[in-house]
Amino acid sequence: MKHLKALILAVLCAAAAACGLIEVSAAAPAEGEARVVVVGGGLAGLVAAYELQNKGIAAHVLEAGDRWGGRVATVEYANGLRSEYGMHEIWDSNTLLAYVKKFNIPLSGPEEPYSSVVMNGKYYPYVQPSVDKFFATMFTPREIKDYRKWLKKAEELYDESEAKGLTPRLAEIQKLSFAQWVGSANLSPAVSEFIRMGVECEVATDWSSISAVYGLQQLSIFMHGSEQCRHVVGGNQKIVESFVDSLKGPKTRGALVTRIVRTKNADGGTEVVVHYKKDGVMRSLRAEKAVVAVPFHVLHAIQFEPGLTEDQWKAVDSLIPGMYTVVHFIIDAKAAEKLLVDGNIPFPVLTRGPLGVVYGFLEKPAASQTEMVFTLLVHGDYTRSYLESRDKTRQRLLAELDKIWLGFSGFVKETHFYGYHPAATPGWGPGRSPLDSLHASLRTENVGLYLAGDYIYSSHADGTVKSGQDVAGKIAKQLKSKP
Ligand SMILES: Cc1cc2nc3c(=O)[nH]c(=O)nc-3n(C[C@H](O)[C@H](O)[C@H](O)COP(=O)(O)OP(=O)(O)OC[C@H]3O[C@@H](n4cnc5c(N)ncnc54)[C@H](O)[C@@H]3O)c2cc1C
Repeated sequence: MKHLKALILAVLCAAAAACGLIEVSAAAPAEGEARVVVVGGGLAGLVAAYELQNKGIAAHVLEAGDRWGGRVATVEYANGLRSEYGMHEIWDSNTLLAYVKKFNIPLSGPEEPYSSVVMNGKYYPYVQPSVDKFFATMFTPREIKDYRKWLKKAEELYDESEAKGLTPRLAEIQKLSFAQWVGSANLSPAVSEFIRMGVECEVATDWSSISAVYGLQQLSIFMHGSEQCRHVVGGNQKIVESFVDSLKGPKTRGALVTRIVRTKNADGGTEVVVHYKKDGVMRSLRAEKAVVAVPFHVLHAIQFEPGLTEDQWKAVDSLIPGMYTVVHFIIDAKAAEKLLVDGNIPFPVLTRGPLGVVYGFLEKPAASQTEMVFTLLVHGDYTRSYLESRDKTRQRLLAELDKIWLGFSGFVKETHFYGYHPAATPGWGPGRSPLDSLHASLRTENVGLYLAGDYIYSSHADGTVKSGQDVAGKIAKQLKSKP
């Protein structure tokens, strides 16, 4: 029956094309139908499908993997242990927070944005009652004053970018790398190093390879009295499950999309045929619109007919990769006591070296607990070492951890690595930022095709959610206007 329907549709399409009613009709017969097909079941795809549903438009979500959530990912180990190997923190300004609250998902925290640091080989735990007292352990009063002054200037520029976009003044700054721009402020080496650590863990690459404007955006968590961050109790997978459970429309996992063919209809609408491989069989879905919500480097793995525009490819191809590798050590819970500082949890600890962000643990172990997960977020150049044997990398990490916490390696029972190749996040190099006109091309429809994901507005979950909401709003406006 399904095939008969598809055949009739194909014949009708061919007839319409022959009469000049549609411009292109290269589409193969489709096996299923939907109003909208969402490609990718990560955060962007799930938000887009959820918001479309809220606007009365059902979407069919196709996910290549065997699980939902993409880079929002929690792993469970034996004895009830779990940790994140994708998104970790949800900041105050993150639009995802509103969904978490709507789904009644419990949150821990809030926690301060400033973290303990290891600077020039010295460990400065942040366990003081105020950030001023913490700063006083690292900086002179003059340095604190200079940092605050610099941050105020950064705040002004960031506010300008939010209110007015890429103004002439910001366009000038965009030409510089973040390192050059901070360098021009003549801050002390200690303050510059502190700023560098704060931004590099967010952008997952060297501060000299990103533009000053992109760096500014990433520092916004420290502005306006600073934001606070929260974690989902029970793991971020709860957010993913809540979205998936709320979606009434069809959802298919193990569906690798390889080709998307779009045509314009005579009435101004569009038709989309999405081809995907499932269980070794090529299948297809016909729809009015498609949302492609895959990582930027995966766009090249999909055949778009017609292709993305020249500007769209330029915008995608000039993104730079941010690199993360997450490491989970299963450690003896007895280690916790030795790592606390005056009974306080000192994590996260920022380092500028092989360890990256030492997330450590969020909560003290319960009295009955024998093991716990100790997490690292290795970033930037140091993830390259993961091309060598895991054992060698593990030895190096443990040696580094022993330098900060003598004897730490003796508590480690298991090690698990989670890599993201060729990129974990997108980045914008000097001369580029999400505010530029090239990037705006990614936010416009291309014959029934919309793009969503963490490279549309910013490199984090906040921009991801915004992009999902944005495409759902645009599609709903178009489809609602049709009977
Ligand atoms: C280690 C790590 C830590 C992070 N920490 C934070 C943090 O603390 N705070 C924060 O805000 N953000 C963080 N982020 C960023 C955040 O996780 C991402 O911005 C967000 O999850 C991206 O969602 P997405 O939907 O755009 O992409 P993804 O989550 O990558 O989803 C894309 C989906 O598309 C699927 N797919 C790919 N190709 C195809 C195809 N051809 N056909 C069908 N499906 C396909 C993939 O399998 C995947 O499920 C972190 C990211 C990483 C990697």
